[in-house]
Amino acid sequence: MDQTPTAPTVRALVADDDPVVRMLVASALRSLDLVVEEVEDGGAAIAAARRQMPDLIVLDVQMPKKNGFDACAAIRELPGGSDVPVLIVTGLEELSFIERAFRAGATDFLTKPIDAQLLQHRVRFQMRASRAFAELRDTLAELGASQHRLAKSQHLARLGDWEWQVSSDRLFFSERASRVLRCDGEPPVSSAEFLDRCVHPDDRSAVAKNLHDAMNGFGDIEFDHRLPDGERVVHQFLEAAESVPGEEPTLAGTVQDVTDRRKAEERIRQLAFYDTLTGLPNRRVLEERLKRAVLFAGRARTQVALLFLDLDRFKRINDTLGHATGDKVLKEIAERLVGALRTGDALARTPEGAGPQTSVSRFGGDEFAVLLTGLSDVQDAGRVARRLLSVIGEPVALPEGEVKVTASIGIAVFPTDGSESDGLFRSADMAMHHAKEQGRDNHQFFSASMNEAATQAMHVERALGEALERGGLLLHYQPQIATGSGQVVGAEALVRLQDPAGGLISPGAFIPVAEESGLIVPVGAWVLRGACQQFAQWRSEGWEGGRISVNVSNVQLRSLDFVDTVDRALADAGLEPQDLELELTEGVFVEARGREVLQELRSRGIVIAIDDFGTGFSSLSYLKDLPVDVLKIDRAFVSEIDSGGGAIVGAFIALARELGCSVVAEGVETEAEVEFLKQHGCDVLQGFLFSRPVSAEELDWRRPASAAAAS
Ligand code: C2E
Ligand code: MG
Ligand code: MG
Repeated sequence: MDQTPTAPTVRALVADDDPVVRMLVASALRSLDLVVEEVEDGGAAIAAARRQMPDLIVLDVQMPKKNGFDACAAIRELPGGSDVPVLIVTGLEELSFIERAFRAGATDFLTKPIDAQLLQHRVRFQMRASRAFAELRDTLAELGASQHRLAKSQHLARLGDWEWQVSSDRLFFSERASRVLRCDGEPPVSSAEFLDRCVHPDDRSAVAKNLHDAMNGFGDIEFDHRLPDGERVVHQFLEAAESVPGEEPTLAGTVQDVTDRRKAEERIRQLAFYDTLTGLPNRRVLEERLKRAVLFAGRARTQVALLFLDLDRFKRINDTLGHATGDKVLKEIAERLVGALRTGDALARTPEGAGPQTSVSRFGGDEFAVLLTGLSDVQDAGRVARRLLSVIGEPVALPEGEVKVTASIGIAVFPTDGSESDGLFRSADMAMHHAKEQGRDNHQFFSASMNEAATQAMHVERALGEALERGGLLLHYQPQIATGSGQVVGAEALVRLQDPAGGLISPGAFIPVAEESGLIVPVGAWVLRGACQQFAQWRSEGWEGGRISVNVSNVQLRSLDFVDTVDRALADAGLEPQDLELELTEGVFVEARGREVLQELRSRGIVIAIDDFGTGFSSLSYLKDLPVDVLKIDRAFVSEIDSGGGAIVGAFIALARELGCSVVAEGVETEAEVEFLKQHGCDVLQGFLFSRPVSAEELDWRRPASAAAAS
């Protein structure tokens, strides 16, 4: 065959039982100047590879006698077959097939119908990578051989020798050894001086330990260390020199500069584990990491999320702008992903500031995968996904102009969506396809229920944001009745959110979302203002005494300007501090900061109530030190009264007496409850029996609300 000396023949082997596909593939490869051999079956492919290993192999999956997976695995076992790039062609764009292909040792895969341009692109890429790999391996082999061969010509091997008289700690370096160690001037004469002048500070303690071992006769010792410049790496070999009677024991050392060798090894490692285009860890690394993460999370009972990210219609960019541009875009996206994950703001905004660990890898083509470990809340994964979508969505500037890229992300969580890595990959992939179906440029959780929860939270967060802007929040009030007089002595403000889709959303559904997103701060401020204004209005209409109760979330209480917000709400409405009661849950009283803030508010005269009392963790003894005026006994206890479970309520009331607190019973629904509460000396009653929470106009503060209470 005709062969120019500059272009060595590159041989490809194509195996496909479909003659048309085979011909298409072969001709695409020939146009890249490859010499192509065509066969019809996996068995024939193995035979051909055994005769002479080609530089590239393309295998169809489904072939009559031996399929592509088996052929690939067999070729990997042949001499010279471990490194040849193998592309597997599958008709089924199914993850299980792709996974099987990789497990069989495929380097890459293609899906049918085959896009000739894409094929050429992949082939060019694979050839480049495999050539770089081969070159490095040759260099390495050469360096290895040189160590042996050039032992005699030390100069070339950058090798020098030295001696150490152990008991007197005297060192003698040959001229070459001092050159290898880059000693300026006289070489060091003691081990301490050697450590000081020839060893990088970070390596010193390890080297000292090795020297110590050598000195104590622990056989031959080898180790590497860096020179003080941090650049060069040397390899040391120490052995006991033949002992000469009458002379002190001596160690003989050889030192070799192995910087280039280490660099080559590092490059190989890079090629094997990192994607050459983006520099990101590749699929293999991710799989390893995921396996490890799952093992660890299983033991630590934490969660792991796998985000599978696929760029939307990326093929279009390749087709219209060419593959070189496609590569540029991929690189840019990769950088953005890394950047977005590095700035932890995408992650859990936990009060402790601890978020999940992340790692991103390129999975192949236009696919990326992100691993989140140490996850305490699965919604963090959704937050990360949203952040990634937003950085990807920013226009990419190219010489040809700007392009806009979007992506679809599927999320699978361990252990819910898969107990091992394979299952998680499948779930994440399914979720990603679901995201594509949902119109692309979005993320989806794998499990339906999680998906619903996340969608619902997003819906609520949006509605809440809009409500704050356009006045979609409103307040209802529930009257509080004095047990003795039956008079309305207060009202609790309860917030509602108008659903843009119609109806009202209850606080149980949106307060947690508001707390998580931080929107609780403006929402809470709005409630405070509104409730104070309303109460001032009632006052002006003649309501004397009594007070307005407002619920305060723990998150809101922790915000810096909370005390100011309260002061301003009171001042603007023209109310006194004792007109306002704040309801907090037990958790906040155990935080030092919470107690401090409450103390301050209480010192002004504002009334502090523990809401839902009894449902927290409270040991009753801790109560006496708290800044509290009112205990609100939770509905759960009140509702047990009718079935004979009133003892707890009785105890709570007695306790409150002892502490000098007044008691409100929540959720009072029956006359029997009223009777019991009255007998036990409960001060105030609140519940559907008297009134549901109603609008300000409907609240009748003038009238004794129930005959039973009034009697
Ligand atoms: P909460 O402070 O314990 O409020 C009492 C809840 O019990 C109200 O539910 C009320 O409608 C309900 N309720 C009252 N009497 C009865 C009864 O006899 N039977 C039954 N079954 N339920 C009764 P709502 O309005 O849905 O509020 C739920 C929770 O949302 C409140 O519990 C409170 O923790 C929170 N919340 C409401 N408004 C606000 C607010 O403005 N800010 C904050 N941070 N939280 C609020
Ligand atoms: Mg309340
Ligand atoms: Mg309550």
